[in-house]
Amino acid sequence: LDADEFRRQGRLVVDFIADYYTRIDEHPVRPAVAPGFLARQLPDTAPARPEPGDDALAAALRDVRDLILPGVTHWQSPRHFAHFAATASNVGALGEALTAGLNINPFTWAASPAATELEVVVTDWLGKALHLPESLLFSGGGGATLLGTSCEAMLCTLVAARDRKLAEIGEERIGDLVVYCSDQTHFSFQKAARIAGIRRGNYREIPTSRESGFTLSPKALRAAVRADEAAGRVPLFLCATVGTTPTAAVDPLRELCAAVAGHGVWVHVDAAYAGAACVCPEFRHAIAGAEAVDSFSTNPHKWLLANMDCCALWVRRPEALTAALGTDHDVILKDPSSERDCGRGVVDYKDWQVALSRRFRALKLWLVLRCHGVEGLRGFVRAHVRMAAAFEGMVRADARFEVPVPRQFALVCFRLRSAAAGEKRARDGDDAEPNELNRRLLEAVNATGRAYMSSAVVGGTYVLRCAIGNSLTEERHVREAWCVVQEQATVVLAAAAC
Ligand code: PLP
Repeated sequence: LDADEFRRQGRLVVDFIADYYTRIDEHPVRPAVAPGFLARQLPDTAPARPEPGDDALAAALRDVRDLILPGVTHWQSPRHFAHFAATASNVGALGEALTAGLNINPFTWAASPAATELEVVVTDWLGKALHLPESLLFSGGGGATLLGTSCEAMLCTLVAARDRKLAEIGEERIGDLVVYCSDQTHFSFQKAARIAGIRRGNYREIPTSRESGFTLSPKALRAAVRADEAAGRVPLFLCATVGTTPTAAVDPLRELCAAVAGHGVWVHVDAAYAGAACVCPEFRHAIAGAEAVDSFSTNPHKWLLANMDCCALWVRRPEALTAALGTDHDVILKDPSSERDCGRGVVDYKDWQVALSRRFRALKLWLVLRCHGVEGLRGFVRAHVRMAAAFEGMVRADARFEVPVPRQFALVCFRLRSAAAGEKRARDGDDAEPNELNRRLLEAVNATGRAYMSSAVVGGTYVLRCAIGNSLTEERHVREAWCVVQEQATVVLAAAAC
């Protein structure tokens, strides 16, 4: 890396990004492009030699501007309300730049002592900021790591639970292990279960209901666990969710832990989105009962200003994780510092994850916590919750719409009422019509490019999801998004009435 060249090129990139953010609101949030649009514009092979001209990077940046940006969905647009946000901040982005610039690979303590120790410190900081139980923190005998995604957190904890259980009952019984979740659990848990070797038939997706707010019922869980035990199967793992993907529903942790207590079930909490809200004491109730869980993960990249990617995973017994994922036969990596403390005082993070190599993610999270402070993060979360409450108020004030599930945090699920679907449905007696109409409404809203929302189907009902969480979103964007929805509803309803 040539320092002078890097300084010059770095300025080009920083200016490019700053210009992008200055004009981000001018882009349609979702691009109107057809599959293959980019491949058609690029050469089939990489250039054999650097591109001609004295600055290949400047030319490439022009292509980013002219070819690539017109085809991206602008996740940082203040009008992006789809999925859950991927938050960004100056220090989050610059922390990523620092990480890339230093390009450190802290797979063991010895491979980069400060990077490892910063991860230990910063995950404890975050755990305390989120009011997590002491038992999950390093300072309380637990510990944490920074992974890329919640899916990895699920897989690593599931593998830890599996190996611990198999050590107890014998490896040949892997086919008897059963895992539990609800029908609202993120599909990544199913993927993790498949990778971990759980039989497809032993993946229990317990149905939820509208009456329980689409949360996992402790009673149904208890019944499922007992039935499995009675049939000679072995309950292994529960994935509870705080903030489900469709509606941000909160599973009742205390009651769920009580339901499986004494059955040797590892309880993992997937709080990918809503864990962030726990920086605010008023939302701490969402994780009441977490004292009894075995592991907990959340994605600071979703709602805590840490740019992609960052998933914090805390475990009560790190030794279960390292027993399953640890490797100590690699002579090259062996270091006396690791042996001195059996990986307890000296953390070798390679033993907490699937891969060997890893990114120095702690740096950006540390910068975010230092530069925003816990109070800053609280203000960030609260502003979004306030905007979501305002959006909900607007929806409720329009008689054509309903909010079929309670707003949770900063996510509002809403839809056109069945009655608004109009006479055509009444004439045809067609139950699917309101769902179809709402589907058309979402498509029409997103086609404007002035707002981008997503959808979910809960209990057979199609809902539009307005998830407020972007750093640049202000009240005016929320009001404008609602105007777009109203305008498009008028158009869609008029078309349906014809
Ligand atoms: N869990 C929940 C509740 C989610 O909402 C999501 C994604 O939005 C995930 C897990 C998957 O997260 P990741 O992409 O970090 O694996």
